[in-house]
Amino acid sequence: MVQIPVSNRGRTVVIDSAEPQVQVVSTDDTEVRRVHVAIVGTGFSGLGMAIRLKQRGENDFVIFEKASDVGGTWRDNTYPGCACDIPSNLYSFSFALNPKWSRLFPQQAEIRGYLRRCARRFGVMTHIRWETELLNAVWNEDELCWHIVTTGGVWKADILVLGNGPLSEPSLPAIAGIEDFEGTLFHSARWNHGYDLTGKRVAVIGTGASAVQFVPCIQPVVSHLALFMRTPPWIVPRMDRPVPLWKQKLYCLLPLAQHLVRARVYWQHELLALGFVYRPDAMKRGMKLARKYLETQVPDLVLREKLTPKYMMGCKRILLSDDFYPALMQPNVEVITEKISEVRAHSIVTQDGREHEIDVIICATGFHVTDTSFAECVYGSGGRSLAEAWKDGPYAYLGTTVAGFPNLFLLIGPNTGLGHNSMVYMIESQLNYILDALRVMQRRDARAIDVRVESEECFNEEVQRRMKGTVWTSGGCKSWYLATNGRNTTLWPGFTFEFRERTRRFDEQNYRFIQ
Ligand SMILES: Cc1cc2nc3c(=O)[nH]c(=O)nc-3n(C[C@H](O)[C@H](O)[C@H](O)COP(=O)(O)OP(=O)(O)OC[C@H]3O[C@@H](n4cnc5c(N)ncnc54)[C@H](O)[C@@H]3O)c2cc1C
Repeated sequence: MVQIPVSNRGRTVVIDSAEPQVQVVSTDDTEVRRVHVAIVGTGFSGLGMAIRLKQRGENDFVIFEKASDVGGTWRDNTYPGCACDIPSNLYSFSFALNPKWSRLFPQQAEIRGYLRRCARRFGVMTHIRWETELLNAVWNEDELCWHIVTTGGVWKADILVLGNGPLSEPSLPAIAGIEDFEGTLFHSARWNHGYDLTGKRVAVIGTGASAVQFVPCIQPVVSHLALFMRTPPWIVPRMDRPVPLWKQKLYCLLPLAQHLVRARVYWQHELLALGFVYRPDAMKRGMKLARKYLETQVPDLVLREKLTPKYMMGCKRILLSDDFYPALMQPNVEVITEKISEVRAHSIVTQDGREHEIDVIICATGFHVTDTSFAECVYGSGGRSLAEAWKDGPYAYLGTTVAGFPNLFLLIGPNTGLGHNSMVYMIESQLNYILDALRVMQRRDARAIDVRVESEECFNEEVQRRMKGTVWTSGGCKSWYLATNGRNTTLWPGFTFEFRERTRRFDEQNYRFIQ
């Protein structure tokens, strides 16, 4: 018998994983509460699920949120300049358009405010268990429900929906000596607002979407900024602008006008999928425009060469910025492309032997996406964890269900990510699917559903087959889209309207029903 002790704020919960199943066998906090649907997270995913359930008249659900506010990504990322890069007319719920977005690409606080308002308006706040972290979820084959251990007690739920976020576990770089650094070090997704950067020698590691947003904001106040960059991103103009008051009023009076703008933005972005998936060659025109943009922004030939990407546009996320290149042109900024060999108490040493004295390191090094620790907390039939199921990289049927994990639904699961359009569109597609699954279960009086292994395998093979020849696998770059085995387990390989169509109805034939 394997016992998995789970530290639970001073209490100990013991999970007995004797074959053939794992179950919670004892807790010293005895109350076990029962709920129909348990949701994890209060970002766009978790809130969206809760709101759609509420709209259907379902009240028997609970949301576990480890933090003390809603917002997910938009609560945690508070770095200077943090904003969305898909216009928020589209990057928002279709059932809760906000006519009062102040800008084309609003900043973090405005998006968090929007999510708070949605949670209040649709009455889901009272369902949220704040500061309640899901520690373990174990499928019980006798009771046909999930046994869930959280920092706020133990629950049983018929259905478990994971909206824990693909970009919510910051990833720190594995660099020799980094733990011995005696200055200040933080990740961009956990910005240290208590630390004043004024007059400091700052090292920024990474040049992804976050760095491109915060570097121009901090450059004017720091004494020196060393930007450590291994691969330059493709950058195109952002053209952010305020939304004029008359337009906001128009959207208030005539919501249809905003729906039309939203549709236009959707189709403009959707066109990019053509280049990413079907005709990578078509990206050449975009590359030409981006190179022209770089040329006009960076006259210094040496710097321009460093900033010129050598891979196909779209292979890594295309970034939008009007002020990143100008910031790099400033005399207090140095772009360093040499690999870092070690971090010392007060410096960073690069492979050319140069030592860069610094006071603070800001890691803009992304998130654990394909290697999330969350997979170690979820145990399906036979006590198999998601981490075991995913040892060769994550996969899920339609990015939503995993064979051997009955009544489990993933939001933004494997291969639902996008490089070109709004994630909220994908989340809403998955919500349709999950709600229809619940409806079908009710109609068939089924207590559990489990996706058929062969359906899952077939889907996974299709996804990987379609990945071949896309810009992500043939574009000549390494990106966080790829798992360690080189497979793209992150992105959806097609148009988003195809995903919407395939998730419109729950496809019963691909599932086993357990009465
Ligand atoms: C800086 C940044 C900018 C972005 N900009 C865009 C954009 O412009 N357009 C776009 O389409 N996408 C963008 N994204 C992607 C973005 O993550 C998604 O669009 C979306 O916000 C994800 O929502 P989510 O609810 O799935 O996850 P999250 O927003 O990450 O929410 C997950 C929630 O789950 C909670 N949680 C996690 N684990 C547990 C646990 N064990 N127990 C309890 N609670 C838990 C977390 O506290 C969090 O509240 C951006 C991401 C980042 C980081």
